[in-house]
Amino acid sequence: MVIVLSDNATEKDIELICERIKNLGYGVNVSRGVEKTIIGVIGAKDEHKLLLAQQLESLPSVERVIPILKPYKLASREWKKEGTQINVKGVVIGGNEVVVMAGPCAVENEESIMLTARAIKAANAKILRGGAFKPRTSPYSFQGLGEEGLKLLYQAGKEVGLPIVTEVLDPRDVELVSQYTDILQIGTRNMSNFPLLTEVGKTRLPVLLKRGLSSTIEEFLLAAEYIMARGNHQVILCERGIRTFEQATRFTLDLTAVPLLHELSHLPVIVDPSHGTGRWQLVPPMAKAAIAAGADGLIIEVHPEPAKALSDGAQSLNIPMFHTLMRELAKVAEAVGRSI
Ligand code: PEP
Ligand code: MN
Repeated sequence: MVIVLSDNATEKDIELICERIKNLGYGVNVSRGVEKTIIGVIGAKDEHKLLLAQQLESLPSVERVIPILKPYKLASREWKKEGTQINVKGVVIGGNEVVVMAGPCAVENEESIMLTARAIKAANAKILRGGAFKPRTSPYSFQGLGEEGLKLLYQAGKEVGLPIVTEVLDPRDVELVSQYTDILQIGTRNMSNFPLLTEVGKTRLPVLLKRGLSSTIEEFLLAAEYIMARGNHQVILCERGIRTFEQATRFTLDLTAVPLLHELSHLPVIVDPSHGTGRWQLVPPMAKAAIAAGADGLIIEVHPEPAKALSDGAQSLNIPMFHTLMRELAKVAEAVGRSI
């Protein structure tokens, strides 16, 4: 539940309320906003919330108490009304600008990642993506270059002046990957890997959390809650397609998730039309639709020669296609009152 304090509440009042909540065995989280200070109560039992809300509302230092009955709290819009903005080396995700992240599925070699980094920067993408640890369905497929891939991605980002995002697969690698990347990506197959969520929650790096391919919106937000409960509130939600009966596309891109997540949560929401469709031909229309639906950003796979890509070539745009798409996306963004 959330306790909104009156404008005249003093530090002593805040301390007393926190003390009282802690004595009940619940956690507290004080958030001092520009206009209001709010105290979040973590772990209160639903059956106790209404009584406690009434008791606290009788205090002069309390303006109102909102008993949140949703299973996630820190991630909820009730908890925090204004949208969260995440600043990655000056690139703001969750603001007016639609932030495009682009790059290959996997980092393959120096020449290719450098070429791609320069090209996506020239096309006005703001973040470079690339996998070094790849979660492949088959153990015989290319698994990524590991630390060597991280070094190449880091170097490419540094040379062209773009922040980078890359996936971490294993809780034991969080420290290593954190040394290179600006954003830690949690892939769809790991959305419910709770030890991994807990581990990235201990870092202070932004986390790009992909929706599990068979996860409900509530499970998705609970996964974000795992990260936030560890103190890391910089979570970017990513809709990347879910599994349905449909076989004509790799996944079914659930664009309803975008406005719905914005309604339920204050966290920024981005869309991955590459994994969401699995076919490069479908990437441009779904990228445009995502912006129209209110996405705060996109993550798009781009490869200089998709026909030779070591992974996900069928859904990767080549460089000229990406340039064309970026010009078209700018018009869609403008039409919905945003920029790129
Ligand atoms: C990726 O972005 O490289 C990736 C593997 O995506 P997902 O986890 O959505 O399949
Ligand atoms: Mn991929």
